[in-house]
Amino acid sequence: MVLDGFNLEGKVAIVTGASTGLGQGMALALAQAGANVVGVASGEMVETKEKVESYGKEFLAIAANLLTIDPVNDIVEKTVKRFGKVDILVNNAGIIRREDSINFTEKDWDDVMNINLKTVFFLSQAVAKQFIKQESGGKIINIASMLSFQGGIRVPSYTSSKSGIMGLTRLLACEWAKHNINVNGIAPGYMATNNTKALRADEKRNKEILDRIPAGRWGLPQDLEGPIVFLASDASNYVNGYTIAVDGGWLAR
Ligand code: NAP
Repeated sequence: MVLDGFNLEGKVAIVTGASTGLGQGMALALAQAGANVVGVASGEMVETKEKVESYGKEFLAIAANLLTIDPVNDIVEKTVKRFGKVDILVNNAGIIRREDSINFTEKDWDDVMNINLKTVFFLSQAVAKQFIKQESGGKIINIASMLSFQGGIRVPSYTSSKSGIMGLTRLLACEWAKHNINVNGIAPGYMATNNTKALRADEKRNKEILDRIPAGRWGLPQDLEGPIVFLASDASNYVNGYTIAVDGGWLAR
């Protein structure tokens, strides 16, 4: 039956940035679809753990600072030690820094590029090596942005990193399809999370953004539930290298 293709029972998913926001929402969706979840964040993930367990699934919390690639191998090793394998990687952890490009600092460039792009590549590489060792194939989902498609303002390292993510998603799909590895992206629109708190608090920018979203509202973590389960499951086996916008119609405008 067609719905069986979406079932993630017995799968193991690593989700970075699973403590809050979109990462937490996707971790919960994967658990509801049947997966055990490994959450990675620098802080605690008590709420995510409780909710995943409320769906009868296991949750392993790994504390790691993804600003460097130092923890990458450890994340895969701890996952395999606990669950014996990995099937799904969601590269969600990300940060943004806002400043006029004319004043933008090297630190704000490096921090954002490191977590949003460099760590995504090397964690994907470590997980892909495990997929190949398992001979199981696997699913990698990278979280992109509207700024994978557009320029934005005052976020030069973010736009560069998220534009890079979409290209990297295509490249990895081309290289790893022969191992039955799918690498796809989700580009969320303007979503109500900590990441956009400053934007939503700015009355003028908030109104400008809302006026431009055809759906007429900010997106919510729950809006990614269907797309993440689809891309993590067998239902999307012939979808590869593509980034799906989940944006209430923003890019269609
Ligand atoms: P968020 O609410 O700020 O959450 C970010 C997550 O990343 C948290 O779990 C955080 O956990 C983790 N994280 C941050 N720095 C980390 C570090 N150094 N090491 C390990 N984990 C770290 O962000 P969000 O809005 O859910 O965004 C999630 C992803 O979606 C990001 O890639 C973002 O760029 C992208 N996105 C968001 C929007 C939006 O409108 N919100 C739109 C497009 C794309 P800790 O703080 O515990 O480390």
